[in-house]
Amino acid sequence: MEEFSRTDPPVREIEDRKPVSMDGARIIFVCVSLKEIFDQQREFIWPRPDRCLRCGLSKVWGKGFVLAYFDDLAGGVYLRRYRCPECRCVIRLRRQGYFARIQASIETIRSSLGQCIGQGRWLAGSSRGRQRHWLKALIRNTVAYLGNVWKSQLLEGFDRLLCRGVVPVSRSIDPAMGTVFEPPYRSVP
Ligand SMILES: [Zn+2]
Repeated sequence: MEEFSRTDPPVREIEDRKPVSMDGARIIFVCVSLKEIFDQQREFIWPRPDRCLRCGLSKVWGKGFVLAYFDDLAGGVYLRRYRCPECRCVIRLRRQGYFARIQASIETIRSSLGQCIGQGRWLAGSSRGRQRHWLKALIRNTVAYLGNVWKSQLLEGFDRLLCRGVVPVSRSIDPAMGTVFEPPYRSVP
């Protein structure tokens, strides 16, 4: 375990969104440029939560990186992880605009679904199998969370699920959105 860097700037939590647990980890979304992370890789300075998001007792320590892939980048990027020495929970940082474990951006997924639902054809440039899966999952999640009546308003259902912190195209029925952090020193390009 490495100690956190002194150069890590503090992060400010947005009050109305609580961290969500997934696989025992807290996922935090940060407003950072994916290109900057890609260019700088492990040199990139990630924001660090002031204290543990679960127990709030301790400062968190750096715990390596997770390699992740995104559609709009040729190679993988290292996403920062932190660990609380008190309760041992792991905190992962992700770029905002992406769901956990899904490589395509939220924007791409919504465009694909919008085109399929509205015009009855798939979005060019994204695999059909993947888009079919998103639609199937959206129908299932919409019905599960919002009820049958929303089946005729799937895109509105997508937005509504997002607002509730549910991944609309998730395979499993679980909330996995996490907290949004906005470091004061950076903004989304
Ligand atoms: Zn803790």
